Amino acid sequence: MIHNRFFRTIFVKFLGKSQISWKLITPLLKVVRTMSRDCVFCKIVKGEISSRKVYEDEDILAFYDINPQAPVHILVIPKKHIENILGISEGDKDLVFKLIKTCNNIAHQVGIAEKGFRLVVNTNPEGGQTVYHLHFHIIGGRQMRWPPG
Ligand code: 5GP
Ligand code: ZN
Repeated sequence: MIHNRFFRTIFVKFLGKSQISWKLITPLLKVVRTMSRDCVFCKIVKGEISSRKVYEDEDILAFYDINPQAPVHILVIPKKHIENILGISEGDKDLVFKLIKTCNNIAHQVGIAEKGFRLVVNTNPEGGQTVYHLHFHIIGGRQMRWPPG
């Protein structure tokens, strides 16, 4: 992954707008992630990378996405490193419930619960996952389209 915050922001801002670029880059990211021990979201949890926090407790952190795809775009993550939804186990039952309940609470808190919103969990390259630390996207504040791209 790109560890320098400035370059990562530029990278996400430019490539975030181009579907084709992401299609080329996600297989590369998959290779890189298996080589890298660093995780951007673990660094956010540790405070090594700053974030605009929405909610925090001993197990969970929620913060605004750096490259929002809608007026409201918040990421909800477990503090524990789990690569993605495929990595959960029986022992994570309470944590997974808590993550979803936190998404629910935040949707109310930021005022998008009644109108509606979308919860997204991108998984692996074809699912569009770029950060390999489990996260729920809460996306709202505009009309969502279906099917998603
Ligand atoms: P994914 O593509 O894996 O489903 O979602 C990763 C999300 O993390 C993207 O929406 C991307 O904009 C966001 N992201 C990547 N790096 C950072 C960062 O350093 N800070 C924040 N707040 N969001 C980030
Ligand atoms: Zn992590």
